[in-house]
Amino acid sequence: MQRHILIGLTFFLISNGRVHSEIPASFQSLNQLTSYSDFTQIVQELDSDPRFTLSEAGKSSQGRSLWLLRIAHPNQKINWRVFFYAQQHGNEPAGKEALIYLAKSIQQDPKILPRGVELWLMPMVNPDGSEQDQRKNAVDADLNRDHMILEQLETQALHRAFRSIQPHLSIDCHEFGRDSDDYREQGWLEWPEIMMDYANYPLLNDEVVSYGAGLVQRMESPMIKKGINFHRYFVGGVPPDGEQRFSAPDMDGGLNGAGIYGGFSFIIEVGVYRKDNDDNHDLPRRVYVYTELLQQVLQDRKIRMQGLALFGRKIKPELPIWAPTNYFWAKLSESAMSIPVIDSATAKAISIPAPNFMPDLVIKKSVSVPLAYLINAEQADVFTDLLNRHEIPFQVIETPRDLLIQRCLLDTVEMDFDDVYHRYGGRVIATLNPKEKVLVEPGSLIVPVEAQNGIRVLALLEPTQMFGLYQYPTYLKMVTDDRILPVARILREK
Ligand SMILES: [Zn+2]
Repeated sequence: MQRHILIGLTFFLISNGRVHSEIPASFQSLNQLTSYSDFTQIVQELDSDPRFTLSEAGKSSQGRSLWLLRIAHPNQKINWRVFFYAQQHGNEPAGKEALIYLAKSIQQDPKILPRGVELWLMPMVNPDGSEQDQRKNAVDADLNRDHMILEQLETQALHRAFRSIQPHLSIDCHEFGRDSDDYREQGWLEWPEIMMDYANYPLLNDEVVSYGAGLVQRMESPMIKKGINFHRYFVGGVPPDGEQRFSAPDMDGGLNGAGIYGGFSFIIEVGVYRKDNDDNHDLPRRVYVYTELLQQVLQDRKIRMQGLALFGRKIKPELPIWAPTNYFWAKLSESAMSIPVIDSATAKAISIPAPNFMPDLVIKKSVSVPLAYLINAEQADVFTDLLNRHEIPFQVIETPRDLLIQRCLLDTVEMDFDDVYHRYGGRVIATLNPKEKVLVEPGSLIVPVEAQNGIRVLALLEPTQMFGLYQYPTYLKMVTDDRILPVARILREK
């Protein structure tokens, strides 16, 4: 695994925690948030331009339209599809504002969109949350933890869009607070201005993961040149004692939930610095740094050429030969990474050693890839809904049939926050039973593990998956008293 060192060599001139580097005049007036109704009006106006096509990807739980905007030059052969989506978290508006700005800029200056590129934008994935200035949607669900079970209308619509667009490259837009009390107590302000990470789900193939790593690294120099402090995205506590890691490798967030469709998937987080409890005094700068990064990704020709060389025009996810099921963040070397902060006393950017930064994703356990998965007839209804939401094909058994299977036993589900592995609970530990020949009853479901859907089927159904379905109450309830999970592995008969 590649080792990424955060470099804190670039010093920025700052005063009162604010960067001197000026933002262009066109951003300076962007200090008001765009409401849902203003947004609707903007995209409807753009729709009259021949380069823009507006559609409704679905509706939110309060019935607001989830607008999807396609932008492409007319009469051009498309070979590279890009999808930017924002505001899964309603109280993180800068990504939305940047996507609106980008769309308007392309209308005014079509050269911003390279030839042969089709750009799709969904700037408001969670309009209900946005209107309430809250993270969750109107029925109190965190959309960015719903990409596995797809119980929310908004995430269902987002995934339908993914399956129909099949983007080569997608970016999920978020924000983080860079002025947390924990840092302030140390006399520091967090100092990555904007951060980006790539899909790291262990089932993704190495080429896709290293393309992602390469792209994030490639963004560093153009951003730093513009006076924007850019880093690979990380989360965690305050250094030196707190633990840090890169973005979660689980399927339930947008980053990997999108990544399992096979294209290159990324997340961007821009840093919010509140002043006198005003969340948006620095909004123009956040929108500016967001727009710069998005345009850089959109316009970089080498990124496109490398991606096309890997994929061609159609995305074909590769079926892995084994399935990593358990993994954790670790540090494979003794050297400490560092974290950039602004020292409040001197107003200078400095680097703090972070000996508990865990940069390496270690696979603890893998299982062989089964031929298919078998779902018990009693639980078929719930799984039919789940598979339909993911548009994963399956068969229903009509006459009793002999199959060689392997059932799985649930050992534990950890529901509390785990202080060593830093995870919001839900870690599933399941073990494999010996192989057995069984007569399968009618009404049971068979879900084949096939090339096009293989990664998604494994991610969703593999019973020994550490962050699998049994972290959710609906599926945990199905586990029998003798701990048998409702999904078994169907094996090839020799
Ligand atoms: Zn977020």
